[in-house]
Order: sequence, then structure tokens, then C-alpha cells
Amino acid sequence: MKAMLLKRICDLRTETEPLVMDEMEAPTPGPGEILIRVSACGVCHTELDIIEGRTPPPAFPIIPGHQVVGRVETAGAGATDFRTGDRVGVAWIFDACGVCDYCRTERENLCAQFRATGRDAHGGYAQFMTVPAASAHRLPPVFSDREAAPLLCAGAIGFRALNLTGMTDGQRLGLVGFGASAHLVLQMARHRFPQSEIFVLARSERERQFARDLGAAWAGEIAETPPAALHTAIDTTPAWRPVLAALAHLAPGGRLVINAIRKEAGDSALLAEIDYPRHLWMEKEIQSVANITRQDVRNFIDLAATVPLKPATTSFPLEAANQALGELKNRKIRGAKVLQIS
Ligand SMILES: [Zn+2]
Ligand SMILES: [Zn+2]
Repeated sequence: MKAMLLKRICDLRTETEPLVMDEMEAPTPGPGEILIRVSACGVCHTELDIIEGRTPPPAFPIIPGHQVVGRVETAGAGATDFRTGDRVGVAWIFDACGVCDYCRTERENLCAQFRATGRDAHGGYAQFMTVPAASAHRLPPVFSDREAAPLLCAGAIGFRALNLTGMTDGQRLGLVGFGASAHLVLQMARHRFPQSEIFVLARSERERQFARDLGAAWAGEIAETPPAALHTAIDTTPAWRPVLAALAHLAPGGRLVINAIRKEAGDSALLAEIDYPRHLWMEKEIQSVANITRQDVRNFIDLAATVPLKPATTSFPLEAANQALGELKNRKIRGAKVLQIS
């Protein structure tokens, strides 16, 4: 099979071809696993964190990709839930230990043995992949393969972030950064909280216009002050300046949810400028989002089919994965990038 391999940590500021195309043997499904013929795989900002070593793979080479859509080719012993030809999706959760306190309380996202697709196990930048059947999710027909792929990370993690805000209908939500995840969160939030105003803080006018087109009540630059204080906000940027901005805009008792697996170090010196009365006092909270549970993925897919959520996508062939990653790195973002594999 064809696969795009990451063989070592790369610096994407100087290396534009971090992944190498390789011909390798297709994997064989073990007990409880299925083999998937991949048709589409989303390209995620987390791949940049993996490639640049902020969340490094434990071993090389690794095939990235954790927003995978495909069809079941064969099932290993005991993987009886699926038949050949079934359409499935695979998200960031590849597996977890299954027996710890977190796993037994549907918080396997926090399990110490959590394994991520495309980091701790081979992912979907390839023609085939294997996955535990328990981590494969059926996809409603309302989505094409290409539409379903970005939902599996950007959408599902956005769903978890939105739940972690604890917001209720009528409360004001701020979205700080407006990429693949936030544009889906905005649509979910409008569906679930129709009385809530949504304010978007984003770097580029193109992103801000996109936000207005999708129903944001207001969109401005990160440095601007929204027209009213925020009850809650979700930050999806890789930087720290937006975190400080969001904290300053929170209403008393407000909560900022940081939806980022790692923050880049570029502007971390700004953290020394945290001003207690302005950024934290009045019971403001900061909550991070870690990984995702299988139930998050399933609940989100159900919600996405009801809305329905249709992500804006741009397609690339598998061979052009480096180009797609480069565009993501250089913030040429509008909607979600998807590799079309078969
Ligand atoms: Zn992702
Ligand atoms: Zn566990």
C-alpha cells in the first residue's frame, strides 16, 4: 500500500517535506481489530504538533492521520460488529487500557495508557489501516466521506470543548481563533443555544467574514474588545496572546476552555503579563480539553447528522499531504483540508 511516513521530528519552518511516500505491506487485523480501506483522511493542526515534536510519537516511522473515513475490508477474530464494506470513521482515540478508573467512568480520554491514532499507532495517511473495532464509528449517510473526515476531529473535539463550557441557552459565547474546529463549533452552538450571541475573535478578515456568514453576531480582531462580556469562551489558537485577550473579556464567573493539545512557545513570555485583577479575579476559570472519548465521537456524529453540519473542505491527493500541512502551518485556512485517498 501507499503511505505517507513521518521518520523523524522536523522543523516545518525550514523543512517543507516532512512526510515521505513509501510502498509498504498493508497491515493485517489482529484479534478484535478491523482492516479499513481508507477513502479520506482529514489534515489536522495536531499533525503539526506531532511532526514538530510538541506531542511526539513514541516510535518512528509513524503514519499520521486521525480523521479517517473508509470501508471495512476484513475483520480480525472477534470483531463481529462489522462486515466487509461497512463505512466507518476513526478519530483521535485509538485505544485506552479499559480497566482504570478513568476508563470505567467514560473518561478514557484521561487514561494514562491512552493511545492516539496517527501518533501512537499508524493512522490514515495511507491506503489501509487497522484499528480496534471498538474505536471504529458508523457514519450516517447524510455525510459524504470527504465531509465526514474533518468532523471526526475538528468537530468531535469542538463538541467536547462546547460541553466543557457548561454554557446554557442565552449565554454569550466567544470563539477565539476561527479554523477547522471553531467553524463547526459555531454551527453546533447556534443549533443547541439559539438564544446565545456568538462573538468571534480571529486574525484575518477572511476568517471574520466567514464567521459572520455562519451567523456570528460580531467578529473582530484578537486585540479588539467584543461588544459585551463573554460568559464563556473557547480558544483554539496555538498562541498565548489570545488566551490573555479571552480572559480579559470574560464576565465574572466566566470560563475559558482552551482547546489545544499543545501551545507553541513563540509568545509564551506573555504569560508573565497575566494581571490578576484583569485576567483571573472574579472567579474566572480556565479549563483545558484533553483528547476525546468514544462516546464524544458518537454523540457528536449524531448531533452533526441532526443539524446537519457540513464542513467546508479542500481536497488534496495523498501524495500532496506535505503541501496540505504546509498550508495549515502558514495559516491558509478556510474550512478543513482532506486527503482523498480512494
Ligand atoms: Zn485533530
Ligand atoms: Zn484506562
